[in-house]
Parts: sequence; C-alpha cells; structure tokens
Amino acid sequence: MLKTIHNLSQIGDENAFAVLARAQALAAEGRDIINLGIGQPDFRTPEHIAEAAIKAIRDGHHGYTDARGIEPLREGIARDLDRRLDVTVSPDNVLVVPGGKVTMYLAITMFGQPGAEILYPDPGFPIYRSMIEFTGAKPVPIPIREENDFAFSADETLSLITDKTSLIIINSPANPCGGVTPKAEIDKLVAGLQKHPNVAILSDEIYGQMTYDEFEHVSLLSYPEIRDQLILLDGWSKTYAMTGWRMGYSVWPDSLIDDVRKLAVNSWSCVNAPAQWAGLAALDGPQDCVADMVAEFDRRRRVIVDGLNGLPNVTCRTPLGAFYAFPNISATGHKSKPMASALLEQAGVATIGGPDFGTLGEGYIRLSYANSIENIEQALARMAEFLLN
Ligand code: PLP
Repeated sequence: MLKTIHNLSQIGDENAFAVLARAQALAAEGRDIINLGIGQPDFRTPEHIAEAAIKAIRDGHHGYTDARGIEPLREGIARDLDRRLDVTVSPDNVLVVPGGKVTMYLAITMFGQPGAEILYPDPGFPIYRSMIEFTGAKPVPIPIREENDFAFSADETLSLITDKTSLIIINSPANPCGGVTPKAEIDKLVAGLQKHPNVAILSDEIYGQMTYDEFEHVSLLSYPEIRDQLILLDGWSKTYAMTGWRMGYSVWPDSLIDDVRKLAVNSWSCVNAPAQWAGLAALDGPQDCVADMVAEFDRRRRVIVDGLNGLPNVTCRTPLGAFYAFPNISATGHKSKPMASALLEQAGVATIGGPDFGTLGEGYIRLSYANSIENIEQALARMAEFLLN
C-alpha cells in the first residue's frame, strides 16, 4: 500500500465538476438537463481571439516560452491594468499561469503551513478552504452575509487577524453569492491591513469586469500602500469565455516574483504558447465582446432574480456582480444539498448546494445564469413545479 507524505485526505474538491459530470451523464441517457451548475460563460470565445491562437501555431509559436509568460503578453497585461484600473504594474511582476485557479494554489502553498492561519470567504470558492487544509494551516472563515448584500465587512475581517495570520483571501465580485464589496469598505480594509505588513493578501478579481447597475469593481491593486503585500489573481476564463483555454495571470510583489517564477519552472515550465498569443489578442483587441457578454448576463440576471422571487418560499437578493444567483431556500423545508440533488435528478435542473461553498452556505443554492433566457425560464418553471409538489 503506497503512502503519500502529505495527507491528501485533507484536500477537498469542487463539487461543481461532479455535478457537471452527473448532468452530462443524465443528458447522455437522453434526459433533458438544463445546466445552471458550473460557472462558465455559455458564449463561444470571440473569433478574433481563437484566430490569434491558430495564427500563432501557423507562425511557429510552438516552443517553450519564458516561464513567466511571453514578454508581449506580460506587457499587454500591464497595459490592460493601466487602461481598466489606471494602475501602473511592471511586466516583471506578472506571471502568466495555466488558469486563474493556479494563482490560489501558489499563494496558499507559499503561505500555508501548520501553525499558520489563513482567512478566506465563507461562502466562497471551495478551493480556498481545500488548499488551506491541504497545507495544514488553519482555515479562518470570513463570514459573507445575505443581510450585508453578500459583501464582506472590513471590521469583521480585520478582527479575525491574529499574530498567526499569514494570508487573507478577498474575492469581489464574488462567487458564489454575486456580492460586490463597496469602495468605502475596501478603503477601510486597506487602512487596517497596512497595520499588518507581514500578512499577505490574495485578491481574487477574476470577475472584476462583471458588475451591474451602478456597482463598480474596486481593485486592491489601486492601493499603492499595500502593493508589497498584494497578490492579484485574474485571468481570461470568465471575461473572454475562455475557461477551457486555461489562461490566468497574477501580479506579485517584488519580494515574491522570483520565487513564484521558480515554482512555475519546477512545475508547468510555461503556459501553452498559442494560448498566450490568444490571451494577448483578447487584451489588445476590441473590448465590445466583453461589454456585450456582460449586457447579456445582466438581462439574464433580471429574469432569474424575478423568477426566483416568484417561487414559493424562495427569496433572492439581486446579485451585483459575477453571474450567480444565491437564493435563500431555507423556508422551503428543503436542505440545500438534497434540494440541489433532487432538482437535478427529478426536475433536470443542475444547481449547486450552498454548503459546497462553506458552512454558511446552508439555506442557499447557487444558480449560474450563464445560460440562455429560454433555458433559465424553463428551469424556473421546473423548479416551481418541484416546489409545489
Ligand atoms: N476564482 C473564482 C472566484 C472562481 O469562481 C473561479 C472559477 O470558477 C476561479 C477563480 C478559477 O478560474 P479558472 O477557471 O481560470 O481557473
């Protein structure tokens, strides 16, 4: 019997992938399944981006690249951050990684060890907690509450810091609740974090371009006072409908960039070269494809929120960002995970139970509205029938 050195039983999972597999298996059996489970845009990658990858292959970009990513791409990322956020970032502090998730893997392994404490949002992206536990560090949940419109509270977050805290994970706009934390709260958080210069901050801004109404994304990168502590996580998956391309990037402080470059050399060497050229075309090309996708998500958001609020004993706050609705189903008499599973098996609607995102997720389910309005309306009708029976 082989025995691994790390206790792999401590590592968790992302149930959205299991739900996806089950939904696909049911569909393969001929069942009509509407997938509101997995969080990925249903749009095709815009044509000019796909073409750039094809051209890169034809142009002979098939070899290894700089482990940090090709220089034109790192420069393109710096230009994009300047254009969008009005911040100056050196291409030397940028690392191109195979998917947004990789940045959290790197940051959490760099700062997690037995005895350390890592703060993370609950409900939040499941990999945060899973990776924290894998490293042996203590996961300390930052509560994300419905009554606070699913924003985090700066005071509450700061009150959780101890002399053992090595890393704080922040996510706005957020998965799974769709919260966008307002600027005043982020200002307060940053002011407090300045008093803890030895605490690293991982800001997951993968949904940064997906906010609605008057809600604006505030990047932690726009606070020079915490630049030495900050690791920014971003990528192409959600913004440009590129989940399967596995393209992400991070911005690291001077003190960490060379260490993280070595971790890249020791593991994936470099990201797929044609995909990097596609990533550059995405950033340098027309941005109306992003605006169009966000406008379509906004239309769907209104349909799903209205529909959910019309279901018996269900209430749903209007999400301010990302593409998830997180309705409160506690008054339906169902528990979250059994309800998500029954919705899939009986009603043919894939959703994710709130507890898959943390203990505070009980009483909620997550629905991704990255699906057509027609499918969303059909799913709502099926949910109504399920709840009435
Ligand atoms: N961060 C958050 C909050 C996410 O929801 C996701 C994907 O669902 C990721 C990061 C990872 O993105 P990628 O698919 O690029 O690894």
